[in-house]
Formats: sequence, C-alpha cells, structure tokens
Amino acid sequence: MYRTRTCGNLRLADEGLVVTLAGWVQKTRKMGGMTFVDLRDRYGITQLVFNQEVDAALCEQANKLGREYVIQVTGTVRERSSKNPHLATGDIELIVSKLVVLNTAVTPPFTIEDETDGGDDLRMKYRYLDLRRSCVRKNLELRHKMAFEVRSYLDKQGFLEVETPVLIKSTPEGARDFVVPSRMNPGQFYALPQSPQTFKQLLMVSGFDRYFQIVKCFRDEDLRADRQPEFTQIDCEMSFVEQEDVIQTFEGMAKHLFKTIRGIEIKEPFLRMTWQDAMKYYGSDKPDLRFGMKFVELMDIMKGYGFSVFDDAAYIGGICAEGAASYTRKQLDALTEFVKRPQVGAKGMVYARVEDNGNVKSSVDKFYSQEVLQQMKEAFNAKPGDLILILSGDDAMKTRKQLCELRLHVAEQLGLRDKNKFACLWVVDFPLFEWSEEDQRFYAMHHPFTSPKPEDIPLLDTDPGAVRANAYDMVINGVEVGGGSIRIHDSQLQDKMFKLLGFTEERAQEQFGFLMNAFKYGAPPHGGLAYGLDRWVSLFAGLDSIRDCIAFPKNNSGRDVMIDAPSAIDDTQLDELCLKVDVKE
Ligand code: ASP
Repeated sequence: MYRTRTCGNLRLADEGLVVTLAGWVQKTRKMGGMTFVDLRDRYGITQLVFNQEVDAALCEQANKLGREYVIQVTGTVRERSSKNPHLATGDIELIVSKLVVLNTAVTPPFTIEDETDGGDDLRMKYRYLDLRRSCVRKNLELRHKMAFEVRSYLDKQGFLEVETPVLIKSTPEGARDFVVPSRMNPGQFYALPQSPQTFKQLLMVSGFDRYFQIVKCFRDEDLRADRQPEFTQIDCEMSFVEQEDVIQTFEGMAKHLFKTIRGIEIKEPFLRMTWQDAMKYYGSDKPDLRFGMKFVELMDIMKGYGFSVFDDAAYIGGICAEGAASYTRKQLDALTEFVKRPQVGAKGMVYARVEDNGNVKSSVDKFYSQEVLQQMKEAFNAKPGDLILILSGDDAMKTRKQLCELRLHVAEQLGLRDKNKFACLWVVDFPLFEWSEEDQRFYAMHHPFTSPKPEDIPLLDTDPGAVRANAYDMVINGVEVGGGSIRIHDSQLQDKMFKLLGFTEERAQEQFGFLMNAFKYGAPPHGGLAYGLDRWVSLFAGLDSIRDCIAFPKNNSGRDVMIDAPSAIDDTQLDELCLKVDVKE
C-alpha cells in the first residue's frame, strides 16, 4: 500500500498512530537540527518532522528534498507544540521514520500555494501545476458536487440522461458554429452543437418525456469574462408541460442546489418579472436584485423648464443611491466620466443631493425651483442623505442601458454586490422577435423553435415585433444562469415562424426538414430549459470568471496556451480533407 491515510485527515485523536502518507513537497524549512516539510495531496497538508539528533541520515535525506518532489513517508502522529489553526491538520505533525523519494521534480515556474507569484498566462501554460493549488482544486470539487446533485435531483424527478451527437449539422442559435471537415465526405462539414436543441426535441417526439444531459456546447463568439468557446449546459426537455411546469421543476432544482451545496433554504417562490418591466425599471433583461435603485422616470416632472438637455430628451430617468449624498465632487465627476466612456455612451449626468434639512441641491439648480426638485425627490421617495443620479437621451432603450451600467457601478462602489447574498428571479414574457436595424429583418430572440403566447398568435400577421414568447430566463445576481421556452410542436406554425425569420421554403427544408418531418408523426407539446453549469459553479464559488471553474479553459483569444491549440495541420491532413488554406494577411 502506498499510503494508509491522506494528508488531510489526521487529527489529534490519531496521536500515536503509525501511518504512511504520499504526496508532494510543498515547502521545507530547516530550523536548527530540525527539518519541517509540508506534504501536500488533494486532501490537505500535513507537517512532517525530521530530527537531526534522532536520525542524522534521514534528516540529511529530507534536507535534499526539492519543491514538488513526490515522496512517501512513514511515521508516528504527534501533537504539535505550536498549532496552526488555519490548517485542518494543524494540531498534529508526523515524526518521520522512513522516507522514500518516488519522483524528483524540476523547480516549478511559480509557487504552488494559494498566494502564488505566478501570473495568469504562466498559470494557464502550466495549468496542471495550477490545479495543485487548493483554491483552484476546490472549484473543481464544487463543480463535481454540483453535477452530482443535478443528476440526483433530476433522476428522482424521472429524467433520463441521454447523450446526443457532437458531430452535427448547424443549428442557428445566434452564434457562429465551429465546423469540422469530413474526410469521408469531401467538401462537407459537420458543426459542433451550440446546444442539443433539435435533438432534445426529437427525443420528445420519440416519447422520452423527461430528458436531460450535462453536455458540452460550442459557440464561436468573441469572448468575455463569462464566455468560453466550449462550455457546459445542464440541458433539459419535458413533454406534456406548460411554462409553469417547467418553471416549477427547475426552480425546484435551483432550491435543491442552494440547499445541498450552500446550505441555504430558499422557501418562497422566486420573484417573477416580465421582460418589459425588467427593461423599464432596470435597463437589462438580467437585473441584479440584490439591491434596489429601481429606475424612476422623470419626463413629466423635469421637462419644460428651459434645460434643453432634458427638454429635447426622449427619456429622462434616474436612480436613488441611499446614503450616498456624501459622495464628493471628485467622486461625482468620476461617475460622470464613467457614463461618458464609449462603453457606456452617455453624454453627461445630472446629480442631486438630498440635504439634512430635506432640501435638494442639484447640478442643474439654475433651471429648477426647489418646488420641482421636491417633486422629483418624492418620485424617488428619497430621504435626507440620499443621492439622485439622472441620465437622459434621445433613445429610451439606449439611455436605460446606460442607466443600468451606472446602477451596477454605483452598487459596486457602495458594496451592495455581496457575493454571499443571492437574489433569484425569473424573467418571463420575452419578445418572440428582435428587430435588426442593420439587417432590416427579425431574428428569433431565443431560437426559432420557441412558441408565441397563444393570445399573441394573431399579431404574427399584423405586428410581429409585439408578439410575446413562452420564454423564460432564470437570473441570479444579474447573471443569466439559464433559460428556455415552450416549443412550437405544430409543423404549420413552425413553417410560419421560419417564414417570418426570412427563411425560404427550400432553406427551411434543407436546414430543418428533419424536425418538421418528425413533427408530422405525432409531436407532443413540449418545452424545456438549459442551465449553464459553469455559471452556476462560479456563482456558488464567488468567482468573477467562469474560467476559474473549468479544469483546462481557453484564454480570451480562444487559445489553450498549454497544448498550444488551435494549431496548423500538415499538408497531408489538408490533402486528405480536400482543403486549401488561404490566410489573408
Ligand atoms: N437551447 C437553448 C439554449 O442553449 C436552451 C433551451 O431553449 O432549452 O439557450
């Protein structure tokens, strides 16, 4: 046996036991005639002790150990004289009587401890070493536990995990496909799935009325902090259900995860908000509701007093930051700079402080009487000590989005985005279509298989932009952790949908003939949802990026710097695939 115990589980109660451990040398310290070694494995760290006076040869051997050597030691557990309260094994140490070096190691490029000297790039290049650090390892342990609890919950609810293919035909879900050339079918390509959407719908036609899969999905998009070209979905579909059934089932799963993973009991039903309200009051379809600062519209109150910025605006709205009247002039200028950054795009910002005596002091006092300012204060229900921040613009939607950025920024400054607080929300009644000014056509807001609300079906012919969908997203702390919809199961309605999306009959047939055909053979009403596993894990781990909960992630240019992918392939491979590469400078 290589080991009888691990480096994480010896306690004071084990005093006197003779045990064998195996692991990596994290650190050695020589103090007088004593040598101390921190031995690490997946489970923790145990302090080893070698005494020159007791066994000089053994101690000599210990002094030669380098960082990250793999060793096996046998010794006796003893109570430590100076205990380490930060370590689970901090009450004991191991008096070593035998040491075997199982493997040597070259000096690692960065220190393998929670506080490391390795920068991002270096740690990604040597990710296998980075994964030895307990702070990184813990994220993967959490990920495992979450996937396990997902399976346990869904299994109990009668869901079957079914694998769907990875080499498929492209499903347009709004992103670019990754494609794979087929050697046996020269000139033809598979696409990697952006999601198993059409397959899970086909499984419903097959009668598997509760399907799920923890599945890799691929989208060739420009990357952001919460995006990776390959990511993992908890993909689900159910038959004979309405929106409410799907929402109940997956709210249940969310509660199960909160309880089993974080020990948090969420008893109440999650809040629900229509997409319209989310946009109107928070300027976002994924509002962070850990704090208030709901938008208040000021068109009625502030227009018509000669302040041309407001008089000419199509939208005037603001937020009230509780207790923030103490913001200095410098801080307010910085906020103005913030909203003027190209990423936000506002022209300027108006602010107003509510003073201790209730008076309002604003940056536009010369246009507004105290009476009007008091009306504004009332609209916000603002109290002495509060700060009101106002934006305006000639495009209501754009201005709301700018105000959303400001709201999040101020909340961050005020410490309101607490990672240990969770605000869960369903956003419902999304529009079915999104109009693209650039392309002068409609796109499906969710995907082309999403059904319209039955009462809005007549609008498909008259005002498609106003049609609401049976679609829903779950949002936690401003992160969209999942979304889905009730699907169209009627081939005629699906036909109509494709037409509205600008598909010719031939193209619809060529891309989705298989699905439309399947629907002719008895398709049950069905709907589902997909949760993003990576986002759930980073939310529970309190991470800023999903990268940190993925064992081997890609960087911001979509590269794996460890294996150096993507890379060129050689000419023989290209010939076999009938491909010619023509990279333009
Ligand atoms: N396939 C959808 C997505 O990936 C989820 C769903 O509608 O079930 O967003």
